[in-house]
Amino acid sequence: MILHEHFDINQEGHLTIGGLDTVELAREFGTPAYVMDENAIRGVCRTYRDAATRAFGADALPLYASKAFSCREVYRIAAEEGLGVDCVSGGELYTAISAGFPASRIYFHGNNKTDRDIADAMDAGVGTFVVDNRDELHALSEEACRRGITQRILLRITPGIDPHTHRAIMTGSVDSKFGSAIETGQAMAIVREALSTAGVELVGLHCHIGSQIFDLEPFSDAANIMIRFFADIQKECGVSLSELNLGGGLGVRYTEYDREIDYADAIAKIGKIVVGFCEENGIPVPKIILEPGRSLVAASGLTLYTVGSVKEIPGFKNYVSVDGGMPDNPRYALYGSQYTALIANRANEPRDYRATLAGRCCESGDLLGENMEIQRAERGDILAVLVTGAYNFSMASNYNRLPRPPVIFVKDGTARVVVRRETYEDLIERDI
Ligand SMILES: *Cc1c(COP(=O)(O)O)cnc(C)c1O
Repeated sequence: MILHEHFDINQEGHLTIGGLDTVELAREFGTPAYVMDENAIRGVCRTYRDAATRAFGADALPLYASKAFSCREVYRIAAEEGLGVDCVSGGELYTAISAGFPASRIYFHGNNKTDRDIADAMDAGVGTFVVDNRDELHALSEEACRRGITQRILLRITPGIDPHTHRAIMTGSVDSKFGSAIETGQAMAIVREALSTAGVELVGLHCHIGSQIFDLEPFSDAANIMIRFFADIQKECGVSLSELNLGGGLGVRYTEYDREIDYADAIAKIGKIVVGFCEENGIPVPKIILEPGRSLVAASGLTLYTVGSVKEIPGFKNYVSVDGGMPDNPRYALYGSQYTALIANRANEPRDYRATLAGRCCESGDLLGENMEIQRAERGDILAVLVTGAYNFSMASNYNRLPRPPVIFVKDGTARVVVRRETYEDLIERDI
């Protein structure tokens, strides 16, 4: 096992995923390629479902925050595993609906939904909108009234929590583009307004404090603040809201330096805390929604590349260049995200070489990581970057007109393409 159960090394010394040899996968499907272990995804889905039911009761619902990795197959899997999904754009919604995902279990997010998004989501019969702000509340109300429907909504609230994560993935503080803050009084104002707005039914509140969080304390603090706010609403408005969405954000182990995290245990602990806070505040335990993205898919995946040039600059760095880079994984360039990499065809050799992994784009920032521990590399080697299942494919671009890699799912000893490789023809398809 390397980092996660489904990564291992076989007798030839090759890296495997879900029991399949990654060197053979690279030969069969080409590189770069994303490869994901379907059973790993399904396993975490079940962990979340079972743990949420145990902690919060049968009506608890984990949603898959599908911005982490969005394609038709993953929505089919989420549907089969009994999850809801969170969509943040018309495109994610379109993909989910086209995969047959039940619209009633879709929560439609986003801090700036367009009129078209709102109309499309209502056309599709989306179950719940998570309303970010007053402008959106009014636009939604108008469209619902025009259609003669009542739309179920949650309001997005910022509880004012600093979860000690990277600034770019921290979302729950007062100064945020997301939601309305309790501290400023704006949250209570929008609750009052929503309660008297035609065409919408306010059923509850949502918060999401950030991402890649390992400590439970920020979640506990957020839950405490939200539940007290539920009680305040009951006191001031005489309304008992029935649904609390606690967002996503549980961390994932990317390197040996990251802690392992037991999601079932984390959910059980959060459950106890939430039930306790509800008792303290004298309110019934609401229907609890969890919204994991990264933790459902990140660990399932790896990316396979072919090594090209290897450049050793005396007194400086060793550069190992691969046939992908920031277009298929922009996370190091964006956040300095750390990954584990290895030479897949010599995975059993010690990782005693230090290298900066470079992509093939015309940007010196096009790196997958610096000073990474890998095996000594040479042209033609297959290099694997582990734990790339979240925010890689979904953030991919065509910079330098690089076609995006395919997504290969492995399951029970077989591999299949779930998103085919982009072709040069695809690249010019929209050009006049
Ligand atoms: C991104 C996001 C999530 C998922 O976050 P992860 O860290 O991937 O679990 C959940 N809810 C909302 C509103 C988000 O924006």
